[in-house]
Amino acid sequence: MSAGPLSPYRSPEHRRRAVRDVASAAGGEVVPYGQSVEGEALEAVRVPSSRGASRRVLCSANIHGPEWIGCEVALALLQTAADAGSPAAALLHHAELWVVPCLNPDGYRRTFERQGVGPLVHLRTNAHGVDLNRNYPLPGGARRHRLPGSGSTTPGDTTYVGPAPLSEPETAALDRLCAEQGFWASTNLHSFMGTMIPAHVDDRPCFRHYARLCRAMADAQPRHRYRRLAARVLDTFTGEQEDHQHHVHDTWAVCIEVFPVLASYRQHWRPPSTFWRFNPHDPGPWIDNDLPGVIAWLRAALDSPRPSELRAQASA
Ligand SMILES: [Zn+2]
Repeated sequence: MSAGPLSPYRSPEHRRRAVRDVASAAGGEVVPYGQSVEGEALEAVRVPSSRGASRRVLCSANIHGPEWIGCEVALALLQTAADAGSPAAALLHHAELWVVPCLNPDGYRRTFERQGVGPLVHLRTNAHGVDLNRNYPLPGGARRHRLPGSGSTTPGDTTYVGPAPLSEPETAALDRLCAEQGFWASTNLHSFMGTMIPAHVDDRPCFRHYARLCRAMADAQPRHRYRRLAARVLDTFTGEQEDHQHHVHDTWAVCIEVFPVLASYRQHWRPPSTFWRFNPHDPGPWIDNDLPGVIAWLRAALDSPRPSELRAQASA
């Protein structure tokens, strides 16, 4: 069932079955929303609100091939949504829940087939070698800066942005889903940094509000409280999912880097493979630590006006 040397993580087939199992346990349905480059179905799980709330929130994960702990946290969110009285079940009082456990199934499969071994660029990208989290358009005429990590226009680089914004079926499909569903809030799970990176905004009301949402998450984390990484001036647009969601789809959006750097280095100073740099051997403690935070972030965002409304209120 599990993925051999990547145990206790799941093989692609096991992950696909798990998505079905947790979807039906939570009273939800699997919604195919597109296809990957290699023809795998892109799958979201929709769980209706238990009180008929019409707003929708998204939790997505694993846009980068080897970051499987994010997928596990996303699956755990669905799993606990089935337990009446859980924080996830309480979230369903206020919103319909959408979960995309794996945004990059080809990267997941490649990571599995290579047993997590190899340079990061071979595991992280989609089947065209594109870093999907650099493939979104830069908002409102912004220009790409030449800073490390801000995206490379050279094919073969770890952060290759692709031939054009939304050139990849995985990003184009998620963009369509976001346009159709109009998510109020979105938590996008990555590893490994132990941080929260909200959408880059330069208006003061939204910048301050993101600080509040991130505080709500940190306050809900029982053991390790993540810090927010954000700067109104120095940060830059890089074609990331959360920037696109905020500026185009009016969604409160944050990248959550599960599994802190220190914990990763404590696990292995020199990991046996790239995979074990990004993923804890025991996902349990990180699920227990981060799931309440993810839910608190979404709840706090649901208690807020939309970003455009907040800006309008502030300028009125
Ligand atoms: Zn990532």
